[in-house]
Amino acid sequence: MNRLKTGIAYFVRNRDHKRVEQDLLDIKNRGCTYVVHFMTEFDTVFFPESVKEICQVTRDLGLEVYLDPWGLGGFICSKYSLFPLDRPEECQVLSDGSPLMQACPNSEVFVEHTERWLDKAAEVKAQYIFWDEPHLFFDNNTKGATPRWACRCSRCQEQFAAMYGHTMPVEPTSDVYEFRQETLYRFFNRVTAMAHERGLKNSLCLLPLRSDEHGFSDWDRFCSLPHVDIFGTDPYWYFVDAEPKQYVTPYTKRVLDLCQKHGKEPHIWLQGFRVPKDQEHEIAIAGLTVYELGIRNIAVWVDKYGTGDNNASANPERVWTVTGDLYRFLHNLGE
Ligand SMILES: [Zn+2]
Repeated sequence: MNRLKTGIAYFVRNRDHKRVEQDLLDIKNRGCTYVVHFMTEFDTVFFPESVKEICQVTRDLGLEVYLDPWGLGGFICSKYSLFPLDRPEECQVLSDGSPLMQACPNSEVFVEHTERWLDKAAEVKAQYIFWDEPHLFFDNNTKGATPRWACRCSRCQEQFAAMYGHTMPVEPTSDVYEFRQETLYRFFNRVTAMAHERGLKNSLCLLPLRSDEHGFSDWDRFCSLPHVDIFGTDPYWYFVDAEPKQYVTPYTKRVLDLCQKHGKEPHIWLQGFRVPKDQEHEIAIAGLTVYELGIRNIAVWVDKYGTGDNNASANPERVWTVTGDLYRFLHNLGE
């Protein structure tokens, strides 16, 4: 049985070394074995030394460092990226011809930009890169009209025509869906190899949507990527007002099956943000469920040290207590 790994995201920016140490000591005492830190493009401009120091303090406390390129290019989790401001011509174009301020994964300039980010990740001595919810834009809220999707830039159109022998349609046909998936597959094949060359491991987390719209209907293929070490998803049940055990179980089983097939480490995120009042205990229900199914790499996003006021739970301290109690309970089970 693999050693239990328990993680938390840490989103605080603080240049006070002692305050960082205090937070991370609290994180360690709650039973975490790793921390997901962020290095946004904004951080690389304004906080490069702070990120380095936060990672250093984390390692010094014996915690592992996962680094999240949150927002990189605007299609890895958050849409807020600096890259489009500098290189709009390397960005995606919607099917109706409108510009989308998100990097095109088929842009060589953006792949190079990602490689430079990975250089910085290696400099701050991250151990894992956490590729967080990548997805392609799809808008089916168009009231009966053809859905708008990306990317249909000149690069993508050219590559599509070479692959299929006809012009890239404006409608999202099966060829379009296949091409978009291929786009993301090729991008992650390249960037995970680049991370590997720098001594970094790769953790890929896909949205709990196995649809063509977001470019990830074939999870098997992404799990099989040679340099993906950890593969998982984040089935956030409060978002859809679901019962936690019922909601997380099928996604967890799917992840476990694929990881067993491809020899990868399975990973599941639990929802610790926007947790409604008096429902905090559901985090423990979901955590025990995924543990019983066989997951040994569990993380909570987030609360307390989390992502912005918009994602705050009704009672962040209570969420943090439930998370810590869950982690310590699971570690005691394994002893
Ligand atoms: Zn494109």
